[in-house]
Amino acid sequence: MQHIPYGRQDITQADIDAVVAVLQSDFLTQGPMVPKFEETVAQYCGTSHALAVNSATSALHMACLALGLGPGDWLWTSPITFVASANCGLYCGAQVDFVDIDPRTYNICPQALACKLELAEREGKLPKVVVPVHLCGQPCDMQAIQALAQRYGFKVIEDASHAIGGRYQGQPIGNGEYSDITVFSFHPVKIITTAEGGMCLTNNAELANKMTLFRSHGITRDPVQMTHATDGPWYYQQIELGYNYRMTELQAALGISQMTRLDDYVARRHQLARRYDQRLADLPVSIPWQHPDSYSGLHLYPIRLQLDKIQKSHAQVFEALRAQGIGVNLHYIPVHTQPYYARMGFKPDDFPQAQSYYREAISLPMYQTLTFAQQDQVIAALVNAIA
Ligand SMILES: *Cc1c(COP(=O)(O)O)cnc(C)c1O
Repeated sequence: MQHIPYGRQDITQADIDAVVAVLQSDFLTQGPMVPKFEETVAQYCGTSHALAVNSATSALHMACLALGLGPGDWLWTSPITFVASANCGLYCGAQVDFVDIDPRTYNICPQALACKLELAEREGKLPKVVVPVHLCGQPCDMQAIQALAQRYGFKVIEDASHAIGGRYQGQPIGNGEYSDITVFSFHPVKIITTAEGGMCLTNNAELANKMTLFRSHGITRDPVQMTHATDGPWYYQQIELGYNYRMTELQAALGISQMTRLDDYVARRHQLARRYDQRLADLPVSIPWQHPDSYSGLHLYPIRLQLDKIQKSHAQVFEALRAQGIGVNLHYIPVHTQPYYARMGFKPDDFPQAQSYYREAISLPMYQTLTFAQQDQVIAALVNAIA
């Protein structure tokens, strides 16, 4: 029996050659590849600044720091996301809260956000930063979120870890039209990979400069940013408390090579999604709704079980799929139910749409090298699992 994971990378000979060439070059880190990768992605997205880092988690942390998030501030995000979208707020000493999801898109619900903001304004607890997550690659309602950001004065970080290669209103996700900073992830299960890796994109030069500092120890070699004239050619100054969040040259070379196939990857994911849509239509499952005005990156393809029409439990269907070699997964366990967050006082039912999604969702395999034959195997296994 062939094991089919829910997601996996595609590495070609061209990728391998690009990485090997870096190994044989003068620079393993801090060379020409990272700026070239940044330029490639910035150009693809139509954004002025891009900063490659060692993970999207680091990118989210840097983005929050650059926006001045700190103790006494609030960061809000969706409960249906990876924990990193929320943890970045805690790293900065801020408090985290959540906004329930839209039951159709599974993204942060703009109406729920508007209601919560109205209440928070009265209580003097407005968020400083909101992190909309483009779940599965489908963009959030950014226009509505940006309108609320202007009205209530919060900053927006798009967690686009799932969404590189997608478009919102015809424009590339990451172009920064409706946000301050956008973050991508290049983990191997995501759409393109650098093994580990992430990126921050912004059109704001000041934010880009701050993030450049946070990426590398808060150190500058730019005389303009120094507190006094340079001591000599060796001189640098630490002017912020930064980190080592740098991406290596090997990773950047892999990223540049992967970028040449990004559009093909996303097109293939759409082909697979359409095929799932057709072949699952008569099963007691809900297929992921796609917004007509967006082009999803389609990182994930989550179905929801219609449990009133199935004689098995969610866990039983999940286990039956795994037993047949299908590496299904669940994206995500609502973050507010994680013990670390529950200890802050969150209750499972605080976000009922998120809970209801969690009780029914299963991510089916979705990646560029999944063959139609493998996909048919997944579908047969699902039919079998819910019978
Ligand atoms: C994968 C992921 C992250 C973290 O990405 P890393 O590159 O692994 O740090 C953050 N947010 C979301 C929504 C993700 O899916």
